[in-house]
Amino acid sequence: MEENSKGATLEQRPNNFLEDIIEADLSSGKHKAIMTRFPPEPNGYLHIGHAKSICLNFGLAKKYGGRTNLRFDDTNPVKEDTEYVDSIKEDIKWLGFEWANEFYASDYFDQLYEWAKVLIRKGLAYVDDQTQEEIRLGRGTVKEPGKESPWRNRSVEENLRLFEEMKEGKYPDGAKVLRAKIDMAHPNMLFRDPLMYRIIHAEHHRTGNKWCIYPMYDFAHGQCDSIEHITHSICTLEFDVHRPLYDWFIENLEIFPSHQYEFARLNLTYTVMSKRKLLELVKNGYVEGWDDPRMPTICGIRRRGYTPESIRMFADKVGVAKRDNIIDLSLMEWCLRQDLNERANRYMAVIDPIKLVIDNWEEGKVEWFDAPLNPADPEGEKRRVPFTKELYIEREDFMEDAPKKYFRLKPDGEVRLKYTYIVKCVSFEKDAQGNVTVVHCEVDPSSKPGAGEWRSVKGTIHWVSQQYAKQIEARLFDTLFTEEQMGAIPEGVDYKQYLNPDSLVIKSAYAEPALLEDKSGIAVQFERVGYFYHDPKNGAWNKATGLRDSFKVK
Ligand code: ATP
Ligand code: MG
Repeated sequence: MEENSKGATLEQRPNNFLEDIIEADLSSGKHKAIMTRFPPEPNGYLHIGHAKSICLNFGLAKKYGGRTNLRFDDTNPVKEDTEYVDSIKEDIKWLGFEWANEFYASDYFDQLYEWAKVLIRKGLAYVDDQTQEEIRLGRGTVKEPGKESPWRNRSVEENLRLFEEMKEGKYPDGAKVLRAKIDMAHPNMLFRDPLMYRIIHAEHHRTGNKWCIYPMYDFAHGQCDSIEHITHSICTLEFDVHRPLYDWFIENLEIFPSHQYEFARLNLTYTVMSKRKLLELVKNGYVEGWDDPRMPTICGIRRRGYTPESIRMFADKVGVAKRDNIIDLSLMEWCLRQDLNERANRYMAVIDPIKLVIDNWEEGKVEWFDAPLNPADPEGEKRRVPFTKELYIEREDFMEDAPKKYFRLKPDGEVRLKYTYIVKCVSFEKDAQGNVTVVHCEVDPSSKPGAGEWRSVKGTIHWVSQQYAKQIEARLFDTLFTEEQMGAIPEGVDYKQYLNPDSLVIKSAYAEPALLEDKSGIAVQFERVGYFYHDPKNGAWNKATGLRDSFKVK
Protein backbone atom coordinates (compact mmCIF):
# COMPACT_ATOMS: atom_id res chain seq x y z
CA MET A 1 0.00 0.00 0.00
CA GLU A 2 1.23 3.44 -0.89
CA GLU A 3 0.42 6.31 1.44
CA ASN A 4 -1.88 8.87 -0.18
CA SER A 5 -0.77 11.43 2.39
CA LYS A 6 -2.78 10.93 5.57
CA GLY A 7 -5.96 8.97 5.45
CA ALA A 8 -6.71 7.04 2.31
CA THR A 9 -4.19 4.60 0.95
CA LEU A 10 -3.54 3.79 -2.67
CA GLU A 11 -3.57 0.14 -3.58
CA GLN A 12 -0.75 -1.43 -5.50
CA ARG A 13 -1.68 -1.71 -9.13
CA PRO A 14 0.08 -2.74 -12.31
CA ASN A 15 2.11 -0.10 -14.14
CA ASN A 16 0.36 2.05 -16.71
CA PHE A 17 1.96 2.52 -20.12
CA LEU A 18 3.56 5.83 -19.14
CA GLU A 19 5.23 4.21 -16.15
CA ASP A 20 6.54 1.48 -18.44
CA ILE A 21 7.99 4.07 -20.81
CA ILE A 22 9.60 6.06 -18.02
CA GLU A 23 11.08 3.00 -16.37
CA ALA A 24 12.55 1.92 -19.70
CA ASP A 25 13.97 5.40 -20.32
CA LEU A 26 15.56 5.49 -16.88
CA SER A 27 17.04 2.02 -17.05
CA SER A 28 18.41 2.48 -20.59
CA GLY A 29 20.04 5.70 -19.48
CA LYS A 30 18.13 7.74 -22.05
CA HIS A 31 17.27 10.07 -19.18
CA LYS A 32 19.01 10.39 -15.84
CA ALA A 33 15.96 12.01 -14.30
CA ILE A 34 12.53 12.81 -15.60
CA MET A 35 10.98 16.22 -15.95
CA THR A 36 7.27 16.74 -16.57
CA ARG A 37 5.12 19.83 -16.80
CA PHE A 38 1.51 20.85 -16.31
CA PRO A 39 0.65 23.45 -18.96
CA PRO A 40 -2.71 25.14 -18.30
CA GLU A 41 -3.96 27.98 -20.39
CA PRO A 42 -5.01 30.68 -17.91
CA ASN A 43 -8.38 31.22 -19.53
CA GLY A 44 -10.63 29.62 -16.93
CA TYR A 45 -10.70 27.69 -13.68
CA LEU A 46 -9.35 24.16 -13.48
CA HIS A 47 -11.78 21.28 -13.55
CA ILE A 48 -11.63 17.67 -12.50
CA GLY A 49 -10.18 16.73 -15.90
CA HIS A 50 -7.26 19.01 -15.18
CA ALA A 51 -6.97 17.42 -11.74
CA LYS A 52 -6.45 14.11 -13.50
CA SER A 53 -3.67 15.65 -15.60
CA ILE A 54 -2.10 17.29 -12.56
CA CYS A 55 -2.10 14.05 -10.56
CA LEU A 56 -0.58 12.28 -13.54
CA ASN A 57 2.19 14.78 -14.32
CA PHE A 58 3.13 15.53 -10.73
CA GLY A 59 2.49 11.95 -9.64
CA LEU A 60 4.85 10.44 -12.22
CA ALA A 61 7.63 12.86 -11.42
CA LYS A 62 7.21 12.21 -7.72
CA LYS A 63 7.17 8.46 -8.18
CA TYR A 64 10.42 8.50 -10.18
CA GLY A 65 12.24 11.19 -8.26
CA GLY A 66 11.81 13.77 -11.01
CA ARG A 67 10.38 17.26 -11.05
CA THR A 68 7.39 19.05 -12.54
CA ASN A 69 7.12 22.58 -13.86
CA LEU A 70 3.98 24.62 -13.83
CA ARG A 71 3.90 26.38 -17.15
CA PHE A 72 1.15 28.77 -18.09
CA ASP A 73 0.40 28.46 -21.76
CA ASP A 74 -0.36 32.15 -22.18
CA THR A 75 0.00 32.60 -25.92
CA ASN A 76 -3.45 34.06 -26.52
CA PRO A 77 -3.71 37.47 -24.85
CA VAL A 78 -7.41 37.85 -25.65
CA LYS A 79 -8.79 35.17 -23.35
CA GLU A 80 -6.26 35.13 -20.55
CA ASP A 81 -6.23 36.76 -17.16
CA THR A 82 -4.24 36.82 -13.89
CA GLU A 83 -7.42 35.92 -11.98
CA TYR A 84 -7.12 32.50 -13.62
CA VAL A 85 -3.39 32.26 -12.94
CA ASP A 86 -4.01 32.74 -9.22
CA SER A 87 -6.85 30.24 -9.03
CA ILE A 88 -4.82 27.61 -10.90
CA LYS A 89 -1.92 27.92 -8.46
CA GLU A 90 -4.25 27.68 -5.49
CA ASP A 91 -5.92 24.56 -6.90
CA ILE A 92 -2.65 22.74 -7.60
CA LYS A 93 -1.41 23.47 -4.08
CA TRP A 94 -4.70 22.31 -2.64
CA LEU A 95 -4.35 19.02 -4.52
CA GLY A 96 -1.09 18.61 -2.63
CA PHE A 97 1.53 19.20 -5.30
CA GLU A 98 4.52 21.51 -5.53
CA TRP A 99 5.98 22.68 -8.80
CA ALA A 100 9.72 22.97 -9.33
CA ASN A 101 9.39 26.20 -11.34
CA GLU A 102 6.63 28.55 -12.31
CA PHE A 103 7.06 29.46 -15.96
CA TYR A 104 5.06 31.20 -18.62
CA ALA A 105 5.15 30.54 -22.34
CA SER A 106 5.38 34.32 -22.60
CA ASP A 107 8.77 34.12 -20.80
CA TYR A 108 10.01 32.54 -24.00
CA PHE A 109 8.60 34.96 -26.57
CA ASP A 110 12.06 36.35 -27.39
CA GLN A 111 13.55 32.89 -27.83
CA LEU A 112 10.60 31.72 -29.94
CA TYR A 113 10.95 34.79 -32.13
CA GLU A 114 14.65 34.00 -32.66
CA TRP A 115 13.83 30.39 -33.50
CA ALA A 116 11.22 31.50 -36.02
CA LYS A 117 14.00 33.46 -37.75
CA VAL A 118 16.22 30.35 -37.69
CA LEU A 119 13.54 28.52 -39.67
CA ILE A 120 13.14 31.46 -42.07
CA ARG A 121 16.89 31.42 -42.72
CA LYS A 122 16.74 27.68 -43.34
CA GLY A 123 14.04 28.32 -45.92
CA LEU A 124 11.54 26.53 -43.71
CA ALA A 125 9.19 29.42 -42.92
CA TYR A 126 7.61 32.29 -44.86
CA VAL A 127 5.34 35.26 -44.41
CA ASP A 128 1.96 34.75 -46.06
CA ASP A 129 -0.31 37.69 -47.02
CA GLN A 130 -3.36 35.56 -47.72
CA THR A 131 -6.49 36.10 -45.70
CA GLN A 132 -7.54 33.57 -43.13
CA GLU A 133 -10.24 32.35 -45.51
CA GLU A 134 -7.80 31.96 -48.42
CA ILE A 135 -5.45 30.02 -46.20
CA ARG A 136 -8.25 27.77 -45.06
CA LEU A 137 -9.41 27.07 -48.61
CA GLY A 138 -5.85 26.57 -49.82
CA ARG A 139 -5.30 23.81 -47.32
CA GLY A 140 -7.30 21.33 -49.38
CA THR A 141 -9.06 18.36 -47.84
CA VAL A 142 -8.12 14.95 -46.57
CA LYS A 143 -8.71 13.65 -50.10
CA GLU A 144 -7.28 16.56 -52.09
CA PRO A 145 -3.91 18.20 -51.77
CA GLY A 146 -3.77 21.88 -50.87
CA LYS A 147 -2.62 24.75 -53.08
CA GLU A 148 0.61 26.57 -52.48
CA SER A 149 0.31 30.17 -51.42
CA PRO A 150 1.42 32.76 -54.01
CA TRP A 151 3.72 34.13 -51.24
CA ARG A 152 5.34 30.81 -50.50
CA ASN A 153 8.54 31.43 -52.40
CA ARG A 154 9.56 34.78 -51.01
CA SER A 155 13.27 35.21 -50.45
CA VAL A 156 14.79 34.69 -47.03
CA GLU A 157 15.63 38.43 -46.89
CA GLU A 158 12.10 39.49 -47.69
CA ASN A 159 10.66 37.04 -45.16
CA LEU A 160 13.02 38.28 -42.45
CA ARG A 161 12.11 41.89 -43.20
CA LEU A 162 8.35 41.26 -43.27
CA PHE A 163 8.42 39.15 -40.12
CA GLU A 164 10.29 41.90 -38.35
CA GLU A 165 7.75 44.44 -39.59
CA MET A 166 4.95 42.21 -38.30
CA LYS A 167 6.62 42.31 -34.91
CA GLU A 168 7.09 46.11 -35.09
CA GLY A 169 3.35 46.53 -35.46
CA LYS A 170 3.37 47.70 -39.07
CA TYR A 171 0.39 45.53 -40.02
CA PRO A 172 -3.12 45.14 -38.65
CA ASP A 173 -4.53 41.91 -37.24
CA GLY A 174 -4.95 39.27 -39.92
CA ALA A 175 -2.87 41.07 -42.57
CA LYS A 176 -0.06 38.54 -42.49
CA VAL A 177 0.97 35.32 -40.80
CA LEU A 178 4.18 33.36 -40.53
CA ARG A 179 3.87 29.79 -41.80
CA ALA A 180 6.18 26.82 -41.75
CA LYS A 181 7.10 25.71 -45.25
CA ILE A 182 6.58 21.97 -45.27
CA ASP A 183 4.30 20.22 -47.76
CA MET A 184 0.92 21.36 -49.08
CA ALA A 185 0.08 17.81 -50.14
CA HIS A 186 1.04 16.13 -46.88
CA PRO A 187 -1.46 13.46 -45.71
CA ASN A 188 -1.35 14.98 -42.21
CA MET A 189 -3.26 18.22 -42.72
CA LEU A 190 -1.26 19.87 -39.95
CA PHE A 191 1.84 19.64 -42.14
CA ARG A 192 0.29 21.74 -44.89
CA ASP A 193 2.28 24.81 -44.02
CA PRO A 194 1.01 25.27 -40.46
CA LEU A 195 0.74 28.75 -38.99
CA MET A 196 3.52 29.71 -36.61
CA TYR A 197 2.63 33.31 -35.77
CA ARG A 198 -0.41 35.56 -36.09
CA ILE A 199 -0.85 39.28 -35.47
CA ILE A 200 -2.94 40.20 -32.43
CA HIS A 201 -2.91 43.78 -31.25
CA ALA A 202 -4.01 43.16 -27.69
CA GLU A 203 -2.58 43.75 -24.27
CA HIS A 204 -1.07 40.64 -22.74
CA HIS A 205 -1.53 40.03 -19.02
CA ARG A 206 2.23 39.74 -18.56
CA THR A 207 4.04 41.24 -21.52
CA GLY A 208 1.68 44.19 -21.89
CA ASN A 209 2.05 45.75 -25.32
CA LYS A 210 5.55 44.51 -26.07
CA TRP A 211 4.26 42.02 -28.60
CA CYS A 212 1.65 42.17 -31.29
CA ILE A 213 2.57 38.82 -32.83
CA TYR A 214 1.84 35.66 -30.90
CA PRO A 215 3.03 32.09 -31.54
CA MET A 216 0.50 29.37 -32.34
CA TYR A 217 0.17 26.35 -30.07
CA ASP A 218 2.19 24.11 -32.40
CA PHE A 219 5.11 26.51 -32.56
CA ALA A 220 5.05 27.21 -28.83
CA HIS A 221 4.36 24.06 -26.94
CA GLY A 222 7.18 21.78 -28.03
CA GLN A 223 9.70 24.60 -27.98
CA CYS A 224 8.72 25.54 -24.42
CA ASP A 225 9.05 21.88 -23.42
CA SER A 226 12.45 21.80 -25.03
CA ILE A 227 13.68 24.96 -23.27
CA GLU A 228 12.71 23.43 -19.93
CA HIS A 229 14.23 20.05 -20.84
CA ILE A 230 10.91 18.32 -20.33
CA THR A 231 11.56 14.62 -20.89
CA HIS A 232 7.96 13.40 -20.98
CA SER A 233 5.41 15.88 -22.26
CA ILE A 234 2.08 14.30 -21.48
CA CYS A 235 -1.10 15.53 -23.10
CA THR A 236 -4.53 14.31 -24.12
CA LEU A 237 -5.28 12.10 -27.10
CA GLU A 238 -6.56 14.77 -29.45
CA PHE A 239 -2.97 15.99 -29.72
CA ASP A 240 -1.65 12.79 -31.23
CA VAL A 241 -1.93 14.24 -34.76
CA HIS A 242 0.18 17.16 -33.55
CA ARG A 243 3.04 14.95 -32.40
CA PRO A 244 4.80 14.68 -35.79
CA LEU A 245 4.76 18.47 -36.07
CA TYR A 246 6.00 18.77 -32.48
CA ASP A 247 8.93 16.58 -33.53
CA TRP A 248 9.43 18.42 -36.84
CA PHE A 249 10.00 21.79 -35.18
CA ILE A 250 12.35 20.33 -32.58
CA GLU A 251 14.38 18.45 -35.21
CA ASN A 252 14.69 21.42 -37.54
CA LEU A 253 15.64 23.74 -34.72
CA GLU A 254 18.11 21.13 -33.42
CA ILE A 255 17.11 21.68 -29.80
CA PHE A 256 16.59 19.45 -26.76
CA PRO A 257 14.44 16.53 -27.88
CA SER A 258 11.38 16.56 -25.64
CA HIS A 259 8.82 13.88 -26.47
CA GLN A 260 5.09 13.96 -26.39
CA TYR A 261 2.90 11.12 -25.05
CA GLU A 262 -0.87 11.04 -25.17
CA PHE A 263 -3.50 9.62 -22.83
CA ALA A 264 -7.29 9.68 -22.90
CA ARG A 265 -8.94 12.76 -21.42
CA LEU A 266 -11.19 12.25 -18.46
CA ASN A 267 -14.91 12.44 -19.16
CA LEU A 268 -17.51 12.09 -16.45
CA THR A 269 -21.18 11.17 -16.63
CA TYR A 270 -23.70 13.99 -16.02
CA THR A 271 -20.92 16.54 -16.46
CA VAL A 272 -19.65 19.01 -19.03
CA MET A 273 -15.96 19.68 -18.79
CA SER A 274 -15.11 22.23 -21.42
CA LYS A 275 -13.94 25.55 -20.05
CA ARG A 276 -15.99 27.34 -22.68
CA LYS A 277 -19.21 25.73 -21.45
CA LEU A 278 -18.33 26.18 -17.79
CA LEU A 279 -17.66 29.86 -18.48
CA GLU A 280 -21.05 30.13 -20.15
CA LEU A 281 -22.78 28.62 -17.10
CA VAL A 282 -21.04 31.16 -14.88
CA LYS A 283 -21.54 34.19 -17.15
CA ASN A 284 -25.25 33.50 -17.63
CA GLY A 285 -25.94 32.85 -13.98
CA TYR A 286 -26.96 29.21 -14.27
CA VAL A 287 -24.68 28.61 -11.32
CA GLU A 288 -23.42 30.89 -8.53
CA GLY A 289 -19.91 31.08 -9.89
CA TRP A 290 -16.89 28.99 -10.80
CA ASP A 291 -16.89 27.65 -7.26
CA ASP A 292 -20.55 26.68 -7.12
CA PRO A 293 -20.55 23.31 -5.33
CA ARG A 294 -22.36 21.73 -8.29
CA MET A 295 -19.59 22.69 -10.72
CA PRO A 296 -16.95 20.14 -11.77
CA THR A 297 -14.26 22.74 -11.11
CA ILE A 298 -11.64 22.05 -8.47
CA CYS A 299 -12.79 25.08 -6.48
CA GLY A 300 -16.39 23.86 -6.82
CA ILE A 301 -15.78 20.36 -5.55
CA ARG A 302 -13.58 21.77 -2.79
CA ARG A 303 -16.52 23.88 -1.60
CA ARG A 304 -18.74 20.86 -1.97
CA GLY A 305 -16.57 18.99 0.54
CA TYR A 306 -14.24 16.89 -1.59
CA THR A 307 -10.80 16.30 -0.10
CA PRO A 308 -7.52 16.35 -2.04
CA GLU A 309 -6.94 12.77 -0.87
CA SER A 310 -10.17 11.62 -2.48
CA ILE A 311 -9.34 13.32 -5.77
CA ARG A 312 -5.88 11.79 -5.88
CA MET A 313 -7.42 8.41 -5.17
CA PHE A 314 -9.95 8.99 -7.93
CA ALA A 315 -7.26 9.97 -10.42
CA ASP A 316 -5.38 6.81 -9.58
CA LYS A 317 -8.46 4.59 -9.89
CA VAL A 318 -9.38 6.11 -13.23
CA GLY A 319 -5.97 5.09 -14.48
CA VAL A 320 -4.33 6.05 -17.74
CA ALA A 321 -6.20 4.92 -20.82
CA LYS A 322 -5.20 5.18 -24.44
CA ARG A 323 -8.75 5.27 -25.64
CA ASP A 324 -11.51 7.74 -24.78
CA ASN A 325 -13.96 6.59 -22.18
CA ILE A 326 -16.51 7.97 -19.75
CA ILE A 327 -16.11 7.49 -16.05
CA ASP A 328 -19.09 7.14 -13.79
CA LEU A 329 -19.50 10.10 -11.48
CA SER A 330 -20.34 7.64 -8.72
CA LEU A 331 -16.70 6.47 -8.72
CA MET A 332 -15.65 9.95 -7.64
CA GLU A 333 -18.24 9.88 -4.86
CA TRP A 334 -17.08 6.42 -3.84
CA CYS A 335 -13.53 7.71 -3.41
CA LEU A 336 -14.75 10.57 -1.26
CA ARG A 337 -16.72 8.19 0.95
CA GLN A 338 -13.68 5.93 1.30
CA ASP A 339 -11.66 8.84 2.55
CA LEU A 340 -14.28 10.47 4.77
CA ASN A 341 -15.50 7.23 6.26
CA GLU A 342 -12.12 6.90 7.95
CA ARG A 343 -11.62 10.50 8.93
CA ALA A 344 -14.87 12.41 9.25
CA ASN A 345 -16.27 13.34 12.63
CA ARG A 346 -19.83 12.20 13.30
CA TYR A 347 -22.76 14.32 14.39
CA MET A 348 -26.49 14.00 14.35
CA ALA A 349 -28.61 16.37 12.30
CA VAL A 350 -32.21 16.14 11.22
CA ILE A 351 -32.85 17.44 7.73
CA ASP A 352 -36.62 17.07 7.46
CA PRO A 353 -37.85 17.26 11.05
CA ILE A 354 -40.95 16.13 12.87
CA LYS A 355 -41.36 16.37 16.62
CA LEU A 356 -41.00 13.46 18.95
CA VAL A 357 -42.19 13.80 22.57
CA ILE A 358 -41.16 11.37 25.31
CA ASP A 359 -44.34 11.24 27.39
CA ASN A 360 -42.71 9.60 30.40
CA TRP A 361 -39.75 12.03 30.58
CA GLU A 362 -39.76 14.87 33.06
CA GLU A 363 -40.18 18.35 31.62
CA GLY A 364 -36.85 20.20 31.79
CA LYS A 365 -34.72 17.15 32.57
CA VAL A 366 -31.50 16.89 30.53
CA GLU A 367 -29.25 13.89 30.32
CA TRP A 368 -25.91 14.16 28.51
CA PHE A 369 -24.52 11.21 26.58
CA ASP A 370 -20.96 10.74 25.40
CA ALA A 371 -20.66 9.75 21.78
CA PRO A 372 -17.43 9.11 19.85
CA LEU A 373 -16.48 11.71 17.29
CA ASN A 374 -15.33 8.87 15.10
CA PRO A 375 -16.58 5.30 15.62
CA ALA A 376 -13.36 3.97 14.04
CA ASP A 377 -11.70 5.32 17.17
CA PRO A 378 -14.12 4.48 20.02
CA GLU A 379 -11.53 5.44 22.66
CA GLY A 380 -10.82 8.75 20.94
CA GLU A 381 -12.35 12.15 21.41
CA LYS A 382 -15.99 12.37 22.44
CA ARG A 383 -18.75 14.82 21.90
CA ARG A 384 -21.57 15.41 24.37
CA VAL A 385 -25.14 14.94 23.20
CA PRO A 386 -28.09 16.28 25.25
CA PHE A 387 -31.26 14.18 25.60
CA THR A 388 -34.52 15.95 26.58
CA LYS A 389 -38.26 15.45 26.54
CA GLU A 390 -38.83 17.02 23.13
CA LEU A 391 -36.77 15.89 20.19
CA TYR A 392 -36.67 16.07 16.42
CA ILE A 393 -36.49 13.01 14.25
CA GLU A 394 -36.46 12.62 10.48
CA ARG A 395 -39.95 12.62 8.96
CA GLU A 396 -39.10 9.50 6.99
CA ASP A 397 -38.19 7.66 10.18
CA PHE A 398 -41.85 7.40 11.21
CA MET A 399 -44.51 5.58 9.25
CA GLU A 400 -48.14 5.20 10.18
CA ASP A 401 -48.90 2.20 7.96
CA ALA A 402 -45.53 0.61 7.86
CA PRO A 403 -44.69 -2.54 5.94
CA LYS A 404 -43.36 -5.46 7.95
CA LYS A 405 -39.74 -4.84 7.09
CA TYR A 406 -39.85 -1.23 8.24
CA PHE A 407 -37.65 -1.19 11.31
CA ARG A 408 -37.88 2.46 12.16
CA LEU A 409 -40.68 4.04 14.22
CA LYS A 410 -44.25 2.90 13.72
CA PRO A 411 -47.27 2.72 16.03
CA ASP A 412 -46.46 0.33 18.89
CA GLY A 413 -43.02 -0.18 17.41
CA GLU A 414 -39.69 0.20 19.20
CA VAL A 415 -36.53 1.86 18.05
CA ARG A 416 -33.29 2.93 19.66
CA LEU A 417 -32.54 6.63 19.63
CA LYS A 418 -28.90 6.54 18.71
CA TYR A 419 -26.49 6.47 21.71
CA THR A 420 -29.42 6.50 24.16
CA TYR A 421 -32.61 4.69 25.04
CA ILE A 422 -35.05 2.42 23.34
CA VAL A 423 -38.39 4.20 22.91
CA LYS A 424 -41.79 2.87 21.95
CA CYS A 425 -44.30 4.79 19.90
CA VAL A 426 -47.54 5.14 21.88
CA SER A 427 -49.49 7.65 19.75
CA PHE A 428 -49.17 10.39 17.16
CA GLU A 429 -50.89 13.59 16.05
CA LYS A 430 -51.82 14.80 12.59
CA ASP A 431 -52.72 18.17 11.12
CA ALA A 432 -55.82 18.94 9.02
CA GLN A 433 -54.02 17.78 5.84
CA GLY A 434 -53.25 14.42 7.41
CA ASN A 435 -49.54 15.07 7.90
CA VAL A 436 -48.01 13.65 11.04
CA THR A 437 -46.93 16.52 13.29
CA VAL A 438 -45.95 14.88 16.58
CA VAL A 439 -44.97 11.35 17.52
CA HIS A 440 -45.41 10.36 21.15
CA CYS A 441 -43.13 7.75 22.71
CA GLU A 442 -42.29 6.22 26.03
CA VAL A 443 -38.73 5.54 27.01
CA ASP A 444 -37.59 2.24 28.50
CA PRO A 445 -35.25 3.43 31.30
CA SER A 446 -33.60 0.01 31.57
CA SER A 447 -32.37 0.27 27.98
CA LYS A 448 -29.86 2.99 28.78
CA PRO A 449 -26.45 1.94 27.43
CA GLY A 450 -24.35 0.63 30.29
CA ALA A 451 -27.39 0.17 32.54
CA GLY A 452 -27.86 -3.53 33.05
CA GLU A 453 -28.33 -5.97 30.23
CA TRP A 454 -28.06 -4.74 26.63
CA ARG A 455 -31.31 -5.19 24.78
CA SER A 456 -31.26 -4.77 21.07
CA VAL A 457 -33.96 -3.70 18.66
CA LYS A 458 -33.85 -3.83 14.88
CA GLY A 459 -33.85 -0.10 14.24
CA THR A 460 -31.67 2.79 15.40
CA ILE A 461 -32.49 6.31 14.31
CA HIS A 462 -30.81 9.66 14.79
CA TRP A 463 -32.42 12.55 16.61
CA VAL A 464 -31.71 15.99 18.01
CA SER A 465 -32.88 17.62 21.23
CA GLN A 466 -35.29 20.40 20.39
CA GLN A 467 -34.13 22.51 23.30
CA TYR A 468 -30.46 22.33 22.31
CA ALA A 469 -30.83 22.10 18.56
CA LYS A 470 -28.84 24.45 16.36
CA GLN A 471 -30.65 25.52 13.27
CA ILE A 472 -28.49 25.11 10.17
CA GLU A 473 -28.95 25.48 6.45
CA ALA A 474 -28.42 22.22 4.64
CA ARG A 475 -27.81 22.30 0.90
CA LEU A 476 -28.64 19.13 -0.95
CA PHE A 477 -27.31 18.69 -4.45
CA ASP A 478 -28.18 16.56 -7.39
CA THR A 479 -26.24 16.36 -10.64
CA LEU A 480 -26.09 19.65 -12.53
CA PHE A 481 -27.39 17.92 -15.65
CA THR A 482 -30.08 15.30 -16.07
CA GLU A 483 -28.48 13.60 -19.06
CA GLU A 484 -25.92 10.93 -18.33
CA GLN A 485 -23.98 11.15 -21.60
CA MET A 486 -23.39 14.90 -21.75
CA GLY A 487 -20.34 14.30 -23.91
CA ALA A 488 -22.47 12.70 -26.62
CA ILE A 489 -24.58 15.81 -27.19
CA PRO A 490 -23.63 17.11 -30.62
CA GLU A 491 -22.28 20.62 -31.07
CA GLY A 492 -25.17 22.78 -32.17
CA VAL A 493 -27.63 21.10 -29.80
CA ASP A 494 -28.01 23.28 -26.72
CA TYR A 495 -26.60 21.31 -23.80
CA LYS A 496 -28.21 23.79 -21.39
CA GLN A 497 -31.63 22.23 -21.97
CA TYR A 498 -30.36 19.34 -19.83
CA LEU A 499 -29.70 21.53 -16.80
CA ASN A 500 -31.30 19.89 -13.77
CA PRO A 501 -33.88 22.24 -12.19
CA ASP A 502 -33.58 20.29 -8.93
CA SER A 503 -29.81 20.33 -8.68
CA LEU A 504 -30.00 22.46 -5.53
CA VAL A 505 -32.46 22.03 -2.65
CA ILE A 506 -32.07 24.23 0.44
CA LYS A 507 -33.36 22.88 3.76
CA SER A 508 -33.58 24.33 7.20
CA ALA A 509 -32.26 21.57 9.43
CA TYR A 510 -31.47 20.94 13.10
CA ALA A 511 -28.16 19.70 14.40
CA GLU A 512 -26.79 18.66 17.78
CA PRO A 513 -24.89 21.54 19.42
CA ALA A 514 -21.42 19.96 19.16
CA LEU A 515 -21.53 20.33 15.37
CA LEU A 516 -20.88 24.04 15.65
CA GLU A 517 -17.72 23.36 17.63
CA ASP A 518 -16.26 21.06 14.98
CA LYS A 519 -12.63 21.90 14.23
CA SER A 520 -11.76 19.16 11.76
CA GLY A 521 -11.76 21.41 8.69
CA ILE A 522 -13.07 18.59 6.52
CA ALA A 523 -16.59 17.35 5.85
CA VAL A 524 -18.38 15.66 8.75
CA GLN A 525 -20.82 12.82 8.69
CA PHE A 526 -24.42 13.53 9.60
CA GLU A 527 -25.15 10.07 10.87
CA ARG A 528 -27.42 8.05 8.61
CA VAL A 529 -27.70 11.02 6.21
CA GLY A 530 -24.46 11.78 4.45
CA TYR A 531 -21.26 13.82 4.48
CA PHE A 532 -21.63 17.58 4.84
CA TYR A 533 -19.06 20.32 4.52
CA HIS A 534 -19.32 23.70 6.20
CA ASP A 535 -19.29 26.13 3.28
CA PRO A 536 -16.60 28.72 4.05
CA LYS A 537 -18.40 31.24 1.87
CA ASN A 538 -22.01 31.22 3.05
CA GLY A 539 -21.99 29.11 6.23
CA ALA A 540 -24.37 26.50 4.81
CA TRP A 541 -23.72 22.78 5.22
CA ASN A 542 -23.18 21.33 1.75
CA LYS A 543 -23.98 17.71 1.19
CA ALA A 544 -20.79 16.40 -0.33
CA THR A 545 -22.14 12.91 -0.88
CA GLY A 546 -24.52 10.38 0.63
CA LEU A 547 -23.48 7.38 2.66
CA ARG A 548 -23.98 4.95 -0.16
CA ASP A 549 -24.31 5.04 -3.89
CA SER A 550 -27.38 7.09 -4.64
CA PHE A 551 -26.93 7.14 -8.37
CA LYS A 552 -29.85 6.56 -10.64
CA VAL A 553 -29.61 3.33 -12.52
CA LYS A 554 -30.15 3.87 -16.24
P1 ATP B 1 -10.80 22.59 -22.01
O1 ATP B 1 -10.92 21.73 -23.22
O2 ATP B 1 -11.66 22.19 -20.87
O3 ATP B 1 -10.86 24.05 -22.30
P2 ATP B 1 -7.98 22.58 -22.23
O4 ATP B 1 -7.38 21.30 -22.64
O5 ATP B 1 -8.10 23.64 -23.25
O6 ATP B 1 -9.34 22.30 -21.48
P3 ATP B 1 -5.70 23.51 -20.85
O7 ATP B 1 -5.59 24.60 -19.86
O8 ATP B 1 -5.05 23.68 -22.16
O9 ATP B 1 -7.22 23.21 -21.01
O10 ATP B 1 -5.24 22.14 -20.20
C1 ATP B 1 -4.10 21.97 -19.41
C2 ATP B 1 -3.75 20.52 -19.38
O11 ATP B 1 -4.83 19.76 -18.84
C3 ATP B 1 -3.50 19.99 -20.77
O12 ATP B 1 -2.33 19.19 -20.73
C4 ATP B 1 -4.71 19.16 -21.08
O13 ATP B 1 -4.41 18.12 -21.94
C5 ATP B 1 -5.15 18.68 -19.69
N1 ATP B 1 -6.58 18.41 -19.66
C6 ATP B 1 -7.58 19.26 -19.96
N2 ATP B 1 -8.77 18.65 -19.88
C7 ATP B 1 -8.53 17.38 -19.50
C8 ATP B 1 -9.34 16.23 -19.24
N3 ATP B 1 -10.66 16.28 -19.36
N4 ATP B 1 -8.74 15.08 -18.87
C9 ATP B 1 -7.40 15.02 -18.75
N5 ATP B 1 -6.58 16.05 -18.97
C10 ATP B 1 -7.12 17.22 -19.35
MG1 MG C 1 -5.94 23.74 -24.28
